[in-house]
Amino acid sequence: MENRQITVTSPLLPDLEDFQQMLCKIWNSKWITNNGYFHQKLEKALAEYLKVPYISLFTNGTLPLITALQALRVTGEVITTPYSFVATTHALWWNGIKPVFVDIDPDTCNLDPAKIEAAITPRTTAIMPVHCYGKPCDIVTIQEIADKYGLKVIYDAAHAFGVEVNGESILKAGDLSTLSFHATKVYNTIEGGALVMRDEQMKKRIDYLKNFGFAGETEVVAPGINSKMDEVRAAYGLLNLKQVDKAIEVRQQVAIRYREVLRDIEGITFFDDIPGVRHNYSYFPIFVEADKYGTTRDELYFKMKERGVLGRRYFYPLISTFSSYRELESAGENNLPVATRLASEVICLPMHHELSQDDITRILSLLVK
Ligand SMILES: *Cc1c(COP(=O)(O)O)cnc(C)c1O
Repeated sequence: MENRQITVTSPLLPDLEDFQQMLCKIWNSKWITNNGYFHQKLEKALAEYLKVPYISLFTNGTLPLITALQALRVTGEVITTPYSFVATTHALWWNGIKPVFVDIDPDTCNLDPAKIEAAITPRTTAIMPVHCYGKPCDIVTIQEIADKYGLKVIYDAAHAFGVEVNGESILKAGDLSTLSFHATKVYNTIEGGALVMRDEQMKKRIDYLKNFGFAGETEVVAPGINSKMDEVRAAYGLLNLKQVDKAIEVRQQVAIRYREVLRDIEGITFFDDIPGVRHNYSYFPIFVEADKYGTTRDELYFKMKERGVLGRRYFYPLISTFSSYRELESAGENNLPVATRLASEVICLPMHHELSQDDITRILSLLVK
């Protein structure tokens, strides 16, 4: 099957019979949403697995971002990265907040802490960094800046499921962290997401906000939204949680094989593991330097596509180039030279738990000159 398509990702799916058994339980209980048995069980299991004190489940990974901004009453301007999925900035837009783009660090693809202070104005109220590709942001420096200027920090941790630094969850950084459990992510509930918080009071507030602001049968305490996760996806999520470690291990092996071969290719760079970090191998980005490699990123990307190997140009184009954002002063290329360059060089190679040795060989053979 030489020409079978190799996709960039493949959803981690629970065993169908196990899932059917879960469905029977849900059918029998007739409790299909609104903080049901599986919802509660998944919140508990995830808090334990992720080593975080509190977590609140959501119906996708975008509503936690929107809700986090509401919960912390963020207004005015927020400093963020252009090198992410559009949902990061859209969440600001939906809250009437002006995104201020700051360039990224070429060594991590994350917001460059050295460039944050220059972008702070009297209207700045928060920083919204992304742990891009699951690589931890410089959480210490970002917190120092936030404390100095009295800013909130909301991490878009959509890529950072299970990532730890020196045994500590990266999700404990900042005021709030958001997760996405979309089908394309390392851990999925088909669609789904979560907010991670530090204290019980914030958990309560978030739980109100995701359920219309209801704080009891007849009491509404805030103009909340509806972003609850249902029982079917919570049950699915419980099953997937049992096999996610195995999936991450397979991904790690793929990364090891990729690196072995790519290390010798002139003009292609990639990230190595960082000592002390538990990575989740959610993505495997490579950066193609056309003058050294002899082929442009797009030439390589389309050649791979023609041969049935579907990489993805994450994150190209930059969010700052989309029509809703490109008029912003901070969206100019001059302000974002690193992000602009990396967006023109990146291809995320296929990375998932079902890649075979043959698949990997086939992918690498397209890259070797
Ligand atoms: C996937 C993703 C989201 C959005 O998650 P959904 O679950 O698809 O709504 C937000 N931010 C980043 C960086 C993502 O990759």
